[in-house]
Amino acid sequence: MRSKIVAGNWKMNKKFDEADELLYQISEELSNNPLKDVQLVVCPPSLYLELATDFAESSDLKIGAQNVSHQKSGAYTGELSVEMLNSVDVEYCIIGHSERRKYFSESSEMLAQKVDNLLEFGIEPIFCIGEQLDDREAGNHFDLVKKQLSEGLFHLSASEFSNIVVAYEPVWAIGTGVTASPKQAQEMHAFIRGVISEKYGSDIAEETTIIYGGSCNAKNAKELFSNKDVDGGLIGGASLIAKDFINIANSF
Ligand code: PEP
Repeated sequence: MRSKIVAGNWKMNKKFDEADELLYQISEELSNNPLKDVQLVVCPPSLYLELATDFAESSDLKIGAQNVSHQKSGAYTGELSVEMLNSVDVEYCIIGHSERRKYFSESSEMLAQKVDNLLEFGIEPIFCIGEQLDDREAGNHFDLVKKQLSEGLFHLSASEFSNIVVAYEPVWAIGTGVTASPKQAQEMHAFIRGVISEKYGSDIAEETTIIYGGSCNAKNAKELFSNKDVDGGLIGGASLIAKDFINIANSF
């Protein structure tokens, strides 16, 4: 179902005490000033997932993982399975982040498998797509985003697809301080909704949550979120400061 979501991707940041403190600050802020009509999601490093889901029990916070194995269980040293995420009440999982595609060579096939495993356990994938600067400069950005969508997700049935959150993250905007302009974001989000509509029909497309990621912060969130096809944000750097993260969630 289409909803407003602001999700924080902590990446590989924060020691245990710092993670504990940040989760405390976020949940305090949420209980003092509850958010209206927007779901806040925190995606900490896996080591802190159980700590985070404990905090989430007493607040409106939901917890997501940053990654999961494409394998279901067994001899895969260092990996975490969907079943494990489910066993500590994780509700979302980021899939296909550009850093995973780049540094860990995650293929579309692998991503599609991860999506299937997550859906089996009722965990919502936050599926990331987005072009490199070269692609945009060459005018290939729409084709590339369409390819990522179809290779990672379009094997799903319509009812399975309705559990997906799409995150449009132009790679050139991630961690660079350069944000897509509100016009660029709206244009791509409308395009993504159109591609989903071609595949699954307009009702499903209208119900799909499509969030924006890439140097979104407390200053530019309002302008980005005011676009009709932008349903929130996937936030990296700015999600590491409780006040900024909450301010972003209050930017609709
Ligand atoms: C991200 O990594 O998903 C992200 C959007 O990072 P940042 O907000 O720091 O650009």
